[in-house]
Amino acid sequence: MTVLCTLLNELGINATMDGDITKGYDRDSSNMEGRAELVCRPKNEIETAMTLAVFHQSRHPLTVVAGKTNLTGSATPNGGGVLSMEKLKSPSPILNLDTHTICSPVGIYLEEMRKEVLLQSQNMLHYPVDPTSRNEAMVGGTISCNASGFVPGPQGATRYWTEGLEIITPQGCKITAKRNEHISENGVFFLQFPEGEKTLPIPTYPRPEIKNASGVFSNDSGVLDFVDLIVGSEGIFGIVTSVTFKVKPKPKDFLELFFTLPGEKQAVDFHQYLSQYWGGDLSNVSALEYFGYNCQNYMDNRNYLFEDDNEVGIYLQIPLFNEEIEAAAEKYLIILEKSCCGIQEDRILSLNNPENWNRFFESRHSIPANALEKTRQMDTWSILTDTIVPPENFGEFLNSAHSILRDENMEYLLFGHLGDCHLHFHMIPSKSRQKEAIVLYDKIVEESARLGGVYSAEHGTGKRKRPDFLKCYGEDAAEQIRRCKEAFDPNNILNKGNVVYPSDHLELADG
Ligand SMILES: Cc1cc2nc3c(=O)[nH]c(=O)nc-3n(C[C@H](O)[C@H](O)[C@H](O)COP(=O)(O)OP(=O)(O)OC[C@H]3O[C@@H](n4cnc5c(N)ncnc54)[C@H](O)[C@@H]3O)c2cc1C
Repeated sequence: MTVLCTLLNELGINATMDGDITKGYDRDSSNMEGRAELVCRPKNEIETAMTLAVFHQSRHPLTVVAGKTNLTGSATPNGGGVLSMEKLKSPSPILNLDTHTICSPVGIYLEEMRKEVLLQSQNMLHYPVDPTSRNEAMVGGTISCNASGFVPGPQGATRYWTEGLEIITPQGCKITAKRNEHISENGVFFLQFPEGEKTLPIPTYPRPEIKNASGVFSNDSGVLDFVDLIVGSEGIFGIVTSVTFKVKPKPKDFLELFFTLPGEKQAVDFHQYLSQYWGGDLSNVSALEYFGYNCQNYMDNRNYLFEDDNEVGIYLQIPLFNEEIEAAAEKYLIILEKSCCGIQEDRILSLNNPENWNRFFESRHSIPANALEKTRQMDTWSILTDTIVPPENFGEFLNSAHSILRDENMEYLLFGHLGDCHLHFHMIPSKSRQKEAIVLYDKIVEESARLGGVYSAEHGTGKRKRPDFLKCYGEDAAEQIRRCKEAFDPNNILNKGNVVYPSDHLELADG
């Protein structure tokens, strides 16, 4: 490693083995244990390519690190080098007002890019993907994880907006790909490398068509856009150095409502009702968020939001393009009333004034914060599911998951993205019951797979959820990903161990 560090510095690339610096890269937000021996911070595409080529030639593992906000250990290094994206900030984002696209570097925070879209379009256009972590996650991290936000349906996730990418492969070669220009045929791409043409077999395991961040994108007919192969691949094929995103006209305003319902059954019915109202396309609303079982006990301002005995609550946000707020509010009061889901008209809270909004925001924010605080006080850790199932199995899945947890008397709360049937069961086991909680988590993941869903709708697989990938898609699917990776990365150096166990560690993993 010392020789590598010297070589990189001789090439003019910022690289260090100073322990005070490297230890800052040992862990990401997953809090999994890791170890970085060397950290390099290239500041442009050429330096990125040279760094990759040096690691490829020397066969040392290299982990790509951006905002470190992933919850799965995908940016946790297991020894070797770290390539930090933090200096890849230029050229600055440029918005094209004619094509409604923005070309962005990957080492800036997502919120910075979103603000640029507003600024350069004078508030006419926006980039609607709004993960909660958008102030800390970098653009490149959101591409690699296919991050998503509040908007239900495909429009809520990064993939939908990604028009083009530039990536550097582990051998240091650059690939430029635009959407619709490179489509695989019969399950393969042909890549031109300096040493000759390579066949790239794409993964073909069947993939449910729901919000999905589990594993690499695949297509069982063997037809895949190259851009889709890269988005959500957790950095195992190459490093994204630049991106072009579509953007869209920004709504003039939003109608913001909070209301309560008697229980979860009514919330599931309401999801179905609203989905039918919009002809199955819930992307017409920009948020449909759920505050379910036990949330009230972890919430500040509880009495403000829940004045009655109702158990659960919903936050609904509607984008307004041509309508005034008052007219939209009247229209939506009627729509909510007609749902027959027990919504009381006089208890619907408008969040369109700053005081109400701030109190609501505080309450929403306080739920995970208070849950985490309890976890700390109990000297334990939380376990959060990220499962999703198709809408037709949503009710059955929720009933099963509640039974799994209640039968064992496990402390938990439930909240999340109702619009996508994607709720998080947040378990808070006492220290002595941590192992039991993992067993319960596994049972819930198995149940989601049985009902046609997946273990991860937004957080991805990383290193932590590799067993879940195997449970959901099987060993053959893992092997397909390994074969695809091998074509990009024959020495298996880049983000080794993300999504699937690397082939040279299979015995270890089995043991
Ligand atoms: C409080 C909190 C809230 C969150 N909320 C959401 C949410 O609402 N929605 C959601 O989807 N996720 C959410 N997440 C998860 C996380 O923020 C996202 O997965 C995010 O996209 C990770 O981006 P990052 O820059 O932090 O990447 P990192 O964590 O640094 O890396 C994540 C993966 O991307 C790879 N990578 C990063 N940059 C590149 C690149 N340029 N080229 C190739 N590979 C690269 C890394 O190697 C790693 O595999 C949340 C996390 C936290 C801690």
